[in-house]
Amino acid sequence: MTTGTGSTKAAAATAARRGGAWLLDATAAEDVFTPERLSDEHRLMAQTTDEFIDKEVLPNVSRLEAKDWAFARTLVRRAGELGLLGVNVPEEYGGLALDKISSLIVAERIARASSFATTYGAQANLCILPLVLFGTTDQKQRYLPTLVAGERVGAYALSESGSGSDALAAKTRATRAPDGNWRLSGEKMWITNGGFADVIIVFAQVDGDQFTAFIVEKTFPGVTAGKEEHKMGLHGSSTTPILLQDAQVPAGNVLGEVGKGHKVALNTLNFGRFKLGAMSVGGCRAAIGDAVRYAVQRKQFGHSIASFGAIKHKLGEMTARTYAMESLVYRTGGLIESLLEESSHDGPSTARAFEEYAVESSIAKVAGTETLDYVLDENVQIHGGNGFVSDYTAERYYRDARVNRIFEGTNEINRLLIPGMLVRRAVKGELPLIAAAKRLQDELLTPSMAAAPSDGVLDYELQLTAAFKKVGLMVLGTAMQTYTDKLTDEQEVLGYAADILMDTYAAESAVLRARAASASGASRAALHQAAARLFTNDAALRIEQAARNALAAMAEGDTLRTLLAALRRFLKTSPVNTVALRRELAEATVEKQRYILG
Ligand SMILES: Cc1cc2nc3c(=O)[nH]c(=O)nc-3n(C[C@H](O)[C@H](O)[C@H](O)COP(=O)(O)OP(=O)(O)OC[C@H]3O[C@@H](n4cnc5c(N)ncnc54)[C@H](O)[C@@H]3O)c2cc1C
Repeated sequence: MTTGTGSTKAAAATAARRGGAWLLDATAAEDVFTPERLSDEHRLMAQTTDEFIDKEVLPNVSRLEAKDWAFARTLVRRAGELGLLGVNVPEEYGGLALDKISSLIVAERIARASSFATTYGAQANLCILPLVLFGTTDQKQRYLPTLVAGERVGAYALSESGSGSDALAAKTRATRAPDGNWRLSGEKMWITNGGFADVIIVFAQVDGDQFTAFIVEKTFPGVTAGKEEHKMGLHGSSTTPILLQDAQVPAGNVLGEVGKGHKVALNTLNFGRFKLGAMSVGGCRAAIGDAVRYAVQRKQFGHSIASFGAIKHKLGEMTARTYAMESLVYRTGGLIESLLEESSHDGPSTARAFEEYAVESSIAKVAGTETLDYVLDENVQIHGGNGFVSDYTAERYYRDARVNRIFEGTNEINRLLIPGMLVRRAVKGELPLIAAAKRLQDELLTPSMAAAPSDGVLDYELQLTAAFKKVGLMVLGTAMQTYTDKLTDEQEVLGYAADILMDTYAAESAVLRARAASASGASRAALHQAAARLFTNDAALRIEQAARNALAAMAEGDTLRTLLAALRRFLKTSPVNTVALRRELAEATVEKQRYILG
């Protein structure tokens, strides 16, 4: 396995190897992987992807939007020739066998091609990946080389009209025929690449309740694609039903084990979510470039609109939020990769690494897609009337991104998963969260000590992120105590907990990255600091609000008063001049006319 991540290894050498450990332990800046630590090989991958998107995809968006699927196939083939479909595929099946940071980079860079990025994602993340993780040697030999070369197009058919979020309740049936082969009947909905896919990972119930994954070829008798959906966005990506009418599937095409389809589905989604977070960062970076270039050239009242404080506010905020998301996505990529470097890179080890960091991957998905929607909305606003018409890309990007909060598990479902998975691990004894919550209770009973004064780079912000963790633990601990085994019914409280956890992970990732940038004397260290300071300050306000709402839902009277006093004690914040920080970021963005920190 070629990794090109000597720095990843070094970065995470001493980091805890458990998902969620960041909530309980302090992390050193040098243990966090950041975009500043990319190797030359990574940068080459970024350049290859950028050139492909700029020269071959973006000039042809209208052909894709006209549903020229023959042309979409040509692009899939080109992606294959460039190695982009086989980044994480072993060399014996035609892949490049690179590290997970490389696939993060490709996802991030391909995002600008939104419709084609979805085509790519369905092929690379949802079809090729499950084959790599769960395929037998024979299945890998039969399917991977042509999929990786882009000669065949892949898809993933999990959803049905009656089961989207509740995907395991699928009704598609699979029965074993007397000849040992399978017969599949049912209707899959909203399948990306449905109109022109050749190989589809299909989920069906064997004997009514054994959820199972199958490898289905479009040419198998009984398999057809339905009509294209008329969508709000992503007009250049195919979305159709897949109809299975007594479809004939060979005995050797069960992917994984009968009755273990949930493993295939969930592990595929774990990494897919992480990559969607990476794609969101790529979308944010591109939109900041669009927004600032427009703002610089657009004049009103005799001045470029980029000179107005209201526009600087937007550019500064877009930059700081993107910085935080980028920091958390790269940090997560580094964690996954460092866990893999310790184990073998075979399918089961890789699936375990994705599962270990499933909480962080859900955070990347929810926080990333919501940041993207915020950034794209502000991009439209900066474009004024031109943002609302199709002559400018702002309008299309805005529509194209909306589905990100719906697929790969809706953001509501992922919000529930973030605290839900942490609590489950705590109950199983895999994460010492309960002991940490108990220590926190003891700390609350002791008189508060003034924090030791310090004047290192972002020391105050680092202390704040430590306080965020305490707030997160207090809310989670109180929720576990209050609701015990009924906690899953309390979705609103879980939602607040998720918001606190997401802001905590994002803020800490940003602060650690900015400290590392300062320690290494990076040329833009001051801007890294401005972005981290701004994000952390505003995260403190959001976290306080979310915690107050959660605590008020769980307690009353003296108990609530005690909890709120603890909250005030943890989040003793000093006012920060965020206007100046946003201006600093905006002015640097205007000077370079692009996102300045990645
Ligand atoms: C463009 C596009 C491409 C897609 N591509 C694919 C693909 O390639 N393969 C595939 O299999 N699927 C695909 N999908 C389907 C997608 O994954 C589903 O739409 C998604 O999982 C949501 O399911 P649903 O639409 O049935 O919504 P529902 O599950 O009906 O959800 C509706 C609302 O209720 C909320 N909700 C549901 N259950 C709960 C709960 N327990 N608690 C709280 N809130 C809840 C949801 O968050 C959402 O807000 C695609 C969809 C689109 C639009």
